[in-house]
Amino acid sequence: MFIPYGRQDINEQDISNVIDVLKSDYITQGPAINRFEEAFAQKIGANYAFALNSATSALHIACLSLGVEKGDIVWTSPISFVASSNCALYIGAKVDFVDIDLKTFNMSIDALKEKLEEADKNGNLPKVIIPVHLCGTPCDMEEIKKLSEQYGFKIIEDASHAVGARYKDSYIGNCEYSDITVFSFHPVKIMTTGEGGMVFTNDKDISKKLELYRSHGVTRDTELMEWDTEGPWYYQQVALGFNYRMTDIQAALGLSQLERLDEFVTKRNELVEYYKNKLEDLPVSIQEISPDKYSSFHLLVINIENDSDRKAVFENLRSANIGVNVHYIPIHLQPYYKSLGFQEGDFPNAERYYKKAITLPLYPNLKLTEIDFIIEQLKKNIL
Ligand SMILES: *Cc1c(COP(=O)(O)O)cnc(C)c1O
Repeated sequence: MFIPYGRQDINEQDISNVIDVLKSDYITQGPAINRFEEAFAQKIGANYAFALNSATSALHIACLSLGVEKGDIVWTSPISFVASSNCALYIGAKVDFVDIDLKTFNMSIDALKEKLEEADKNGNLPKVIIPVHLCGTPCDMEEIKKLSEQYGFKIIEDASHAVGARYKDSYIGNCEYSDITVFSFHPVKIMTTGEGGMVFTNDKDISKKLELYRSHGVTRDTELMEWDTEGPWYYQQVALGFNYRMTDIQAALGLSQLERLDEFVTKRNELVEYYKNKLEDLPVSIQEISPDKYSSFHLLVINIENDSDRKAVFENLRSANIGVNVHYIPIHLQPYYKSLGFQEGDFPNAERYYKKAITLPLYPNLKLTEIDFIIEQLKKNIL
């Protein structure tokens, strides 16, 4: 049997909650959306939450809501999914990257400081920085927040991996160290709505913009209108928005999954502990996690630290029906980004990490005997 690198966990209760919405009056733009948003905002400790059809959409309108415009500069990590930087390109902004730290796999704070100093001198500071909590392990947000105050940039946390993760004892998403936080509910992530995402903010003005951009830039809120309402039917388009809405069918699944979020994250942490004990004797390194962070472990990435051929290890594990993967190919080395002027050698840590990285299977229903089998096959191939 094939062991995938990740998969959703949907139970009978989740299914029955979705069926209830299917039998109700509203399958989209109904009450399940509000319930999902309110429950999540409350759990995470953020003032505002908006459900969306994906984290990609969420990142796009997060940039717009922070005022990113054509020609502005946005920085993120080169080791992420392409959506983390594409969001800025959609708007015509310029993207640049901050190299990673080889211990945490996240954006390096030292590299960030250096790059900011230089950008300050050259007069090309970023408007927004998008730290990515890789594998569900939070970045050093306190440091990034301090730098944002010093240099005047805004922060969007790409927490697509970090749903249910904690930083300094609070849930990621409470926006204590950022302007906006984004979650993904794709099925391989921590909890799912099929496709889906959510944005959080504590700022009322930003929340109004997020809400507008999610739905065509159209409002029925008289406070947001450019002139007086013409009657109870009246709406106005006051911005150029999109249809990035989530359906109530999805929200019902999300609300149901939210109740199981902590259980999912605990299970992932238990499985990683089991993995870690077995990985100790192997020539591999894993992400370093400081005590102020509790990872949600969307992914378990190992770096092969001897001279084994990563490609051969990968292929042999796949032949043994183990769905290993690689997260991620550095974004700046994608053909599209190379065509923008990036090249090999631009972010050496990210490139080194990529050459050694393999993602091992990890999801709540993964069995310990399956981990034993994965370790056995890994040993065979890298010792
Ligand atoms: C999955 C992912 C996204 C995009 O999420 P979707 O919900 O699939 O749009 C963005 N950033 C990161 C880091 C991701 O892993």
